[in-house]
Amino acid sequence: MRFASIGSGSEGNGTLLACGDTLILLDCGFSAKETVRRLREKGVEPEQLTAILVTHEHADHIKGVSVLSSRYNIPVYLTWGTFCCKPLQQRPLIESLVTIITPHEMFMIGDIEVQPVPVPHDAREPTQFVFSTAQWRVGVLTDVGSITSHIISVYKDCDALLLECNHDLELLMSGPYPQSLKRRVAGDFGHLNNQQAALLLKAVYSERLRHLVITHVSQKNNALDRVKDALVRAVNCRSDWIQIADQDTGIGWQVLTRNERILEEASL
Ligand SMILES: [Zn+2]
Ligand SMILES: [Zn+2]
Repeated sequence: MRFASIGSGSEGNGTLLACGDTLILLDCGFSAKETVRRLREKGVEPEQLTAILVTHEHADHIKGVSVLSSRYNIPVYLTWGTFCCKPLQQRPLIESLVTIITPHEMFMIGDIEVQPVPVPHDAREPTQFVFSTAQWRVGVLTDVGSITSHIISVYKDCDALLLECNHDLELLMSGPYPQSLKRRVAGDFGHLNNQQAALLLKAVYSERLRHLVITHVSQKNNALDRVKDALVRAVNCRSDWIQIADQDTGIGWQVLTRNERILEEASL
């Protein structure tokens, strides 16, 4: 199993998950044209995609979904709540390409088992996902305002975790956002701050975790040294073990293997 990101942040998101011939694009928050350009940077042609899976209807996750799907005949998986959102009503999906999922039931896309996880976020039916094969588990968790016990139980025992570290609370509060937006981002239905992400990481952390990728980092309200500091403190790992999926290029393909990880040499 392998994964990559074509970009992560409030300007657009897209994550690739692959196993054998199965290739999932999780979210498509760039225009279709820009998505194709970014896919090609990762060596992927849009025709190769098995499916587009959507977490929720915010523009940074859904912008290119309709056009990419209809242009290249790609099936789309999403909840009923996401399906009913305004942007997808204005630029509808082709009905025969749509599969409605429920956030409580596992399903398969090709060779990959997909476990949906309902999350607190200010969207109609927001869902995050853990992807599994017989051997591997990859958890993707972004756009979450608060951590639930269900989230902790589902994200345990992952081989790779792509985790939102959206903002530093101090930087958000002293930053340029208007008060109402600050309240939204920091609220229970907003985004994970560094300390919340660190708590989540500590709660789900196991010897099995080989890849930790920081995602959905705010360019205005966070700093990478603050993110890394919070995560390193939480699990006593090396800061150079932590990877980043950024807004411009995401992160290149990561192949899951059982290689020794360098984490055991951890020192603060
Ligand atoms: Zn987002
Ligand atoms: Zn969102």
